[in-house]
Amino acid sequence: MSSSNEVLRLSDIKKSYNIGEPNEIEVLHGINFTIERHDFAALIGPSGSGKSTLLNLLGLLDQPTSGEIYLMGEPTSQMDDATRTHRRGQRIGFVFQFHHLIQAFTVLDNILMPLIMAHGRPTKSHIEHARALLDAVGLSQLADRKPNQLSGGQQQRIAIARALVTKPALLLADEPTGNLDSQTAEEIFELFRQVNRENDCAVLLVTHDPRLSKTCDRAIRLVDGRIESDELLQPST
Ligand code: ADP
Ligand code: MG
Repeated sequence: MSSSNEVLRLSDIKKSYNIGEPNEIEVLHGINFTIERHDFAALIGPSGSGKSTLLNLLGLLDQPTSGEIYLMGEPTSQMDDATRTHRRGQRIGFVFQFHHLIQAFTVLDNILMPLIMAHGRPTKSHIEHARALLDAVGLSQLADRKPNQLSGGQQQRIAIARALVTKPALLLADEPTGNLDSQTAEEIFELFRQVNRENDCAVLLVTHDPRLSKTCDRAIRLVDGRIESDELLQPST
């Protein structure tokens, strides 16, 4: 059953990589969970446990070998490429460890990029929206800079603003603070928390840092391609 707050539902997701026959290896062995609109969840687990593989499936960047992913109630396995790309652009935002900002463009144009790719030349309201996001991530004065003139933490803030510009229902982040010092990492986590509260956007982030994952509301632990635990965390005060 799908509730109206359900953003994502995974049903028995398996993923194999074919590293040349007969060497097909299954790295995800039947994953089930649901992400709801209010969720602020960490995906944790040892290196090689399948976290990035899973995140790429959830983000419709790659397809499972079997099972079904429902995005806002809609099954995704039979979608054609154009529909998949459209849904991804509309409903999902991504933040990676390395921000992938385009150095030749200004900060503001980087934030606008997903809208430019979807709609062409940005409208006045697109630009206003991008400026509002830049303000929300605390960097309104840097609109005209180039990414390489910013610190690592500032660049990651820009990447978060860019991920939000399409007003996604789900924000996925793969080790978004893996490249940052611990103080900056905490600030970036606080920003994700703010996004979750204020933008009505589910957040699922991969992190290695137990100090950061403990600040989330929920921790999904993956070990050897299986969910070992999925628990609600007590708010720490
Ligand atoms: P994590 O992000 O938790 O470190 P990954 O999802 O990157 O784990 O990897 C899970 C397993 O899948 C690892 O054993 C890895 O070697 C394997 N793997 C990941 N990507 C590929 C690929 N493109 N081809 C073959 N094997 C892969
Ligand atoms: Mg990974």
